[in-house]
Amino acid sequence: MTALPVLKPGDTVGVLGGGQLGRMLALAAAELGLNCHIYAPESHSCAFDVVRDKTCAPYEDEAALARFADAVNVVTYEFENIPAATAKFLRSRKPVLPNPDALEIVQDRLTEKEFVTKLGIGTAGFVAVDSLEGLQTAVSTLGTPSILKTRRMGYDGKGQASIKTPTDTAEAWDAIGRAPAILEQFVRFEGEVSVVAARNAAGEVVAFEPAENLHRDHILHRTRVPAQIPGALAGQAGVTAGKIAAALDYIGVLAVEMFVVDDGGKLRLLVNEIAPRVHNSGHWTIDGATASQFEQHIRAVAGWPLAKPRRLGRVEMVNLIGDEVNDWRKYLAEPGACLHIYGKGEARPGRKMGHVTYVFPE
Ligand code: AMP
Repeated sequence: MTALPVLKPGDTVGVLGGGQLGRMLALAAAELGLNCHIYAPESHSCAFDVVRDKTCAPYEDEAALARFADAVNVVTYEFENIPAATAKFLRSRKPVLPNPDALEIVQDRLTEKEFVTKLGIGTAGFVAVDSLEGLQTAVSTLGTPSILKTRRMGYDGKGQASIKTPTDTAEAWDAIGRAPAILEQFVRFEGEVSVVAARNAAGEVVAFEPAENLHRDHILHRTRVPAQIPGALAGQAGVTAGKIAAALDYIGVLAVEMFVVDDGGKLRLLVNEIAPRVHNSGHWTIDGATASQFEQHIRAVAGWPLAKPRRLGRVEMVNLIGDEVNDWRKYLAEPGACLHIYGKGEARPGRKMGHVTYVFPE
């Protein structure tokens, strides 16, 4: 990789992926006088609507990737399932941040969990599964209930099947398409929290305080900050995210999702997943903090100092999933509601169409 650049206003950040995260990154970059060039294969990418420079081409199109690399000062991504070969190709031409090695570790649930475990950080018990026989053995090791998850490409509960009794194994194995997987112990958690943290090239880490997340049908429904957890546990969550970011030699924003479990009266954290990008549970920072996760990511990849964000009150963020976005008039009329609509067109069930943030005095 070439030396890391320090961008100046007028320079361009290349973003792989054209969804709402890319759109919000581009909006944050614009406020800092930087441009974003969005690269995405889908012609209806909602991030295209807010940028001047865009490339609509497959991630395998080397000619398009080379032109994109020439047109930008640094490359980042808003989508973690970028093919490893794409990141590698771009890396030979321009700095790619966060580094593609980090991406490779967290793209695969098995290498991700092994990496976290090696750092001495707790996770749900897990076993690699490559066949139906392997699944049956894993179920006898971990017990039920448990969750079978594909190693790659899973998100928002996709590529997952729950196993309530050992007789469910064949059905679960078929449900995930007989793909390489891991079996995870089902965690009876008290709650779910996430830490969104930024790390820059100087190794400085700035984390937002933990957010408390409520999921519906495996999709994030609501985030509240501050999380209702003891201060010491919140501190531990921040330290855990910083430790992961440092071990990955990470530059940019990442999110670490954790379960809060009651271990005989003592609360403990188990890491569920690392997202190597800005994250839905950090959307509250746009309206609820003096600098957003998107600004932090842009600062980090631009080689700039990180902001020291301050929270502006007690914050609640609610996702607008599918046709919930049709209530936009209601939110517009609601005093204090900060409405964000992603401009995605068709409101399909389960699709994240927008969000609303409320900031209350503490
Ligand atoms: P994931 O795709 O791994 O982020 O999972 C999505 C959601 O499913 C999580 O936020 C949890 O609510 C639930 N979930 C995932 N893994 C487990 C587990 N091992 N035990 C209990 N719930 C889980």
